[in-house]
Amino acid sequence: KRMITTEFTQEDEKIETGLRPQYLKDYIGQKKVKDNLKVYIEAAKQRQESLDHVLLYGPPGLGKTTLAGIIANEMGVNLKVTAGPAIEKPGEMAAILNNLKDGDILFVDEIHRLPRQVEEVLYPAMEDYVIDVVIGKGTAARSIRFDLPHFTLVGATTRAGMLSAPLRDRFGVVNRLEFYSPEELCCIIENSAKILQVDIDKEGAMEMARRSRGTPRLANRFLKRVRDFAQIKYDGKITKEVADFALNLLEVDRLGLDRTDRKIITTMIESYGGGPVGIESLAVAIGEDAGTLEDVYEPYLVQNGLLLRTPRGRMVSDAAYHHFGLQPQE
Ligand code: ADP
Repeated sequence: KRMITTEFTQEDEKIETGLRPQYLKDYIGQKKVKDNLKVYIEAAKQRQESLDHVLLYGPPGLGKTTLAGIIANEMGVNLKVTAGPAIEKPGEMAAILNNLKDGDILFVDEIHRLPRQVEEVLYPAMEDYVIDVVIGKGTAARSIRFDLPHFTLVGATTRAGMLSAPLRDRFGVVNRLEFYSPEELCCIIENSAKILQVDIDKEGAMEMARRSRGTPRLANRFLKRVRDFAQIKYDGKITKEVADFALNLLEVDRLGLDRTDRKIITTMIESYGGGPVGIESLAVAIGEDAGTLEDVYEPYLVQNGLLLRTPRGRMVSDAAYHHFGLQPQE
């Protein structure tokens, strides 16, 4: 399993429960998203209506689940959490919707993975707060309409492009989450350190922030790992030296790249002359699934200017050659 996977792991569940910010004011960064949500939340509260449906998209670990919880807290309503692959039948979705109260938030993670028939239940539910149930069989079959509570759907996905158009169109608020700056991650690390009662200095926090590939989930996970090193090999305090030592051992480099990231770049250089290469061929060459490559690995490499998306395929940038101490090819 990838050491620095941004995907949610069991270990994260323990750490993250205590570290999730509860209100917008504690949610670091993502200014545009926060400003946007603030307005919608305030307006909905004033009108005493449920909030419009919200779609959040972006790579894993950037704070989508956390935001869903915050929206519920700010609105003063209940939050029900589920995920696309967890709901298999239309009836299951109908039951979940029917059990909500007016204003409640239903958070559906990986919403692009909902089965088609389940998704279709959502269309009238999101639009008119109704659900159609078919009763009887054959010629005796008829459809009965039930009213649903005025709920708010908060959907999360790693790629908005994976959503079907009818579903996407039913979200009134669509927000894209961005990678965090090192300064923002530094803030998150310092806050988490306070909560976990870890002794850390500014340089230590900054070094970890720079190597957390723009992702709060990783920043928090590194904090926990590096704390162990600080405790066993040093005097307990996380300094730049400790962070450096521990992250090098974890094979996380100066830019936050891990072994798989490096393999992607070096494979492109060594086997494809730096590209262009199609995502499918690249996936086969490094033994990863193309979807994971595109959703999880590629965004950070693109953001960092190491990988370029061109109409003819993916290409390695000059900066990537330099990062590996190589000369770019003509
Ligand atoms: P996603 O749902 O996008 O995969 P999560 O919401 O589970 O990501 O976030 C992962 C962890 O990162 C959370 O437990 C939380 O502690 C932390 N985190 C995410 N965004 C922020 C933020 N803006 N400020 C502080 N901590 C954050």
